[in-house]
Amino acid sequence: MIEHPKLSDPRQGDETAGNLSETQGVSTMSSTYRITAVRVETTADDPHEHIARVRIGLDTSAGRSRETLVSDLNDPQGDRYDTFANGELTDVVLRTCPTCPATDYITTTSKNTTANNLLELPRY
Ligand SMILES: [Zn+2]
Repeated sequence: MIEHPKLSDPRQGDETAGNLSETQGVSTMSSTYRITAVRVETTADDPHEHIARVRIGLDTSAGRSRETLVSDLNDPQGDRYDTFANGELTDVVLRTCPTCPATDYITTTSKNTTANNLLELPRY
């Protein structure tokens, strides 16, 4: 019997349990940051774009890496991200890439399109 990896399960590898600390009346530790520009990388196989880094707000530096966003989004108390693109404000989430098996694909939760709104942002 061959076991296929569950590519559709966004919560695989859930190692975020524990340390649900007793907060002292403060329920939200995370902040939400607006992504305003992206750096993409083109994959080697079946070339398509992955988000590699993002800039927040008026940031003009190298921005935050995909690894940082992945660790934030997997952390119940980590930072959250959203973006305004394609005429709508959407949350930024982790999904399996629609083109390849990558599970650290950063995309948006648009009601209007299945496209990744982040790819509409200015590139840097
Ligand atoms: Zn991909």
